[in-house]
Amino acid sequence: MGLISKLVNMVKGDQPAPVAPSGPNIITRDHHDISRRDISDNALKVLYRLKDAGYQAFLVGGGVRDILLGKQPKDFDIATDAHPEQVHKLFRNSILIGRRFRLVHVRFGREVIEVATFRASHNEGQDSNQAKQADNGMLLRDNVYGTVDDDAMRRDFTINAMYYNINGFTIHDFAGGVEDIEQRNIRMIGEPQARYREDPVRMLRAIRFAAKLDFDIDPATAEPIHSLGHLLEPIPAARMFEEVLKLLLSGNGEQTYYLLRDYDLFKYLFPATDAAIEADQSEDYQVEEFVILALRNSDERIAQGKSVTPAYLFASLLWHPLQERLSKISKMPPIPAMHQAAQDVILQQVKRTSIPRRFSTPMKEIWDMQLRLPRRHGNRAAELVENKRFRAAYDFILLRESSGEDLEKLGEWWTEYQFASGEKREQMTTDLGKPAPKKRKPKKNPQA
Ligand code: ATP
Ligand code: MG
Repeated sequence: MGLISKLVNMVKGDQPAPVAPSGPNIITRDHHDISRRDISDNALKVLYRLKDAGYQAFLVGGGVRDILLGKQPKDFDIATDAHPEQVHKLFRNSILIGRRFRLVHVRFGREVIEVATFRASHNEGQDSNQAKQADNGMLLRDNVYGTVDDDAMRRDFTINAMYYNINGFTIHDFAGGVEDIEQRNIRMIGEPQARYREDPVRMLRAIRFAAKLDFDIDPATAEPIHSLGHLLEPIPAARMFEEVLKLLLSGNGEQTYYLLRDYDLFKYLFPATDAAIEADQSEDYQVEEFVILALRNSDERIAQGKSVTPAYLFASLLWHPLQERLSKISKMPPIPAMHQAAQDVILQQVKRTSIPRRFSTPMKEIWDMQLRLPRRHGNRAAELVENKRFRAAYDFILLRESSGEDLEKLGEWWTEYQFASGEKREQMTTDLGKPAPKKRKPKKNPQA
């Protein structure tokens, strides 16, 4: 019997669960498997310093969830009754961040431990400095402090509302998260539709966790998503960009894509891509195939510990929208036409997700190189392999070919060229023959 089954059985009643009727299930240290060894030294340092200063301190969220699933948590989030300013005072290496949601980041080199003060719901009289909700139910400001019980009820899913108490090493399960972990179930705390209206990004989070953990979304939690995608429209593009990276660039992009399409949310992230997929008449669904292969590629790279970049992701997802745009531009030479089309496509996309310049620049360079890699005559090939975007652009060529595009074996040629000796390289460019003569418009002959 696995750890979690032991836990669930215990909670379900092998022994009476040690809880007050409305409080959390408290699972004592000898009944669960979270040990301090699973928690990063820096997170432990923060937990202990808070506790020693007389505050409550819990590890919460993905940290607890992932350890219970035997996975390595991506980061460690801490919840406490200390107010942000009080936390800040305890750690010289900390900064206060956020307006909509104030919290403290404690920095240890590259590791950042996020410390949030317990939040309460918004009903009890408070001023708009602390809390603000739009007419449509969306939370605009969320700084009403409360108890750990209040805090748990405001979290999104039951599996994210388990708290590991550094004082006594118990797990406090407020919403049945332990059982949902066992059932591999994503379940919203509270009334799903109202919780999506408060924060529509929760729809994306449901899908992200389903794909990442290979869990099902509970029917009542899943059902409203199909018709609420439009709520994502007013979400700031910068937040959407961050969310898209977590969705598509965390190692489960392909699976996440299928879910996004099934739930009709993909079109709110990449409207032009979605439209290109829908409009695709090709027999082998080249457009969608291209997107899927790109995502599968990044998933494989991540699994191998290789780097992936948002520039490449966006270059792939927007490649067919770019072609579509290009087909509408006439009377312009290829390169300026490509620049014009790129600008149009990007301008459209940043209405949904921002694309910071440090990513849009290399993205455009990858596209640019798609026009340049076929032109290999003379010294060009030798120069192109030295280009800083060569590697990404070459991968992109291979991707286009595997999705069914016929590039006359361009990928194969470049594969061979890269590994060839100097002599062989020269031979290869010579074998290409002379560059095709530039097409000139026939001169108008006024006498004819
Ligand atoms: P991971 O870090 O693996 O992506 P996580 O569950 O830790 O997963 P975070 O975004 O780090 O996700 O958030 C930490 C915790 O904060 C969550 O587990 C959840 O309890 C809470 N939380 C985050 N975002 C929301 C939200 N939009 N609505 C309600 N609760 C949220
Ligand atoms: Mg986290």
